[in-house]
Amino acid sequence: MPLKWVFHGGVSAPHRKNTAESETSVLDIPEKVVIPMVQHIGAPCTPTVKPGDTVKVGQKIGDSEAYVSAPIHSSVSGTVTRVEPMLFAGGNLVMSVEIKTDGKQEVYEGISPPEIKNREDFLKAVRSSGLVGLGGAGFPTHVKLNPPKDKVIDCLIVNGAECEPYITSDYREMLENPDGIIEGIKLVLDYLSIPKAIMGIEDNKPKAYKLLKEKAQNDNRISVQSLRSRYPQGAEKTLVYALTGRKIPSGKLPADVGCVVLNVNTVAFIASYVKTGMPLVQRRVTVDGPVVNQPKNVLAPIGTSLQTLFDFCGGFKSTPYKVLMGGPMMGIAQYSLETSVIKNTNAILAFDKKEGDLPSEWPCIRCGRCVEACPMNLLPLEINRLVLANKIDELERYHILDCIECGSCSYSCPSKRHLVQSIRIGKDAVRRLKVNRN
Ligand code: SF4
Ligand code: SF4
Repeated sequence: MPLKWVFHGGVSAPHRKNTAESETSVLDIPEKVVIPMVQHIGAPCTPTVKPGDTVKVGQKIGDSEAYVSAPIHSSVSGTVTRVEPMLFAGGNLVMSVEIKTDGKQEVYEGISPPEIKNREDFLKAVRSSGLVGLGGAGFPTHVKLNPPKDKVIDCLIVNGAECEPYITSDYREMLENPDGIIEGIKLVLDYLSIPKAIMGIEDNKPKAYKLLKEKAQNDNRISVQSLRSRYPQGAEKTLVYALTGRKIPSGKLPADVGCVVLNVNTVAFIASYVKTGMPLVQRRVTVDGPVVNQPKNVLAPIGTSLQTLFDFCGGFKSTPYKVLMGGPMMGIAQYSLETSVIKNTNAILAFDKKEGDLPSEWPCIRCGRCVEACPMNLLPLEINRLVLANKIDELERYHILDCIECGSCSYSCPSKRHLVQSIRIGKDAVRRLKVNRN
C-alpha cells in the first residue's frame, strides 16, 4: 500500500550507490588504532587506561559519569602507547587513546552476554554496550530509548532509508543481517513495551525491502514500508511524518509525537550485544568516491585511520582534492587521513577537484528554490542574509535551530550560495547566545 504522507521539499540527488552489491570485506587488523574519547553527542569520556597498559578486545578504555554519554571500548588487543589530545575528524584535538596492536585480537575476559530481566536491565545493557546511533548522528541509544516519563512511546520507527548518495552501509546490513535487525526490533518492543514498529526502506532498495518484509511477516507488530527515494527521507522528522503522518513541531523530538527512531544497524547491534556481550568495537564503513580505486564496504575496528581504509581499497587513482567523513550532502571535510573511524562513521568518500570543489557564490536572485527544497519549512535565503549581517539575535525567529543541515537548500541554489555553511555558523552563534543568556 503506498504511503499517504509525503514530506515537503527535499531534492532528487543522484544515488551513486556504487558499493550496493559489494559484500562487506573485513579489514586486516591495523598496526595501531587511535580511539577518540568523543564519539557521541553528550559528555566526552575520560580515559580509564594509561600508556603501557595492555588491553584486550571489548575492554572499557573510557567512560563518563554523565547520563548523556556512552562508554568506549578497545577494538583491538595490544598495548596503550599514548593517551593525549590527538587530531579528530572535526579538525580539532580530542583526548584519544592510541593502541599498538599485537595481532592476537584476544577478547577481554569480562565479556559475557548481559543478564536482562526487565526494562531497567535492558537500558543498562544498552548503555554498557557503548551503543550510539549508527546512522550518523551518534546520540547515545540508551538515552533515546528512555524518554521522559510523560512521553508515551507507541511506535518504534526503524530507519532503513539511507537516502544520502554513495552510502550503502545500512543496505548491506539489511541484506547480510536481516534476522539480526528483526531480532533487535523485537527486543526493543518487548523490553520497552512498545506496541508496534514500522521500518521504512527507500524504493531504490527493492531487494532489501522484499527480504525484510519476508522476515517480518511472522510478527504482526512489525510492518515494513517502501518510501519514495528522495533526499533527506531518512532524517528523523521527515521519516516519522512519512511513516505515521505525525508532524514533529518546531524544537521538539520524535518522542513528543510518540515515536523513537533507530537505524537498522543500531537495532541489529542491540541483538548482537544481547547475544554475545561484545560492546561496539567495529563498524561497517562505505569507502567510495571518484578517486578511490576499489570502492567497498569494509568492516573496520573503531579507531582505524582513514588512510588504512583507503589503502585497503586499493588507494587513490589520483591525489584526492577533498575527503569527506559521511555522505556528500552532510559529510565533514577532513584535514588529514590520520583521523580515525568512530562509532558513527558510515562512510568515507574521496573526490577529485571537479566533484569536490566548492563553487564560488553569486548574488541571491530570490528565486525561492531553497525555500521549496527545505524539508523543515525554513527560509534559508533569509537566514543566510541574517548570518552574513551578523544579526544573530534575529535568527531564532527564523527557527534556525530546526535546520537539520541536510544541504538541500545549497544543492538547489542556482547562485551556488553557501547556505548550509552559513546556517551552521549561525546555529553555533545562537547556541552560544542562549548559553550566555541563561
Ligand atoms: S535558491 Fe539561492 S538564489 Fe534562489 S532564493 Fe535561495 S539563496 Fe537566493
Ligand atoms: S535550511 Fe537546513 S534543513 Fe533547510 S534545506 Fe537548508 S540545510 Fe536543510
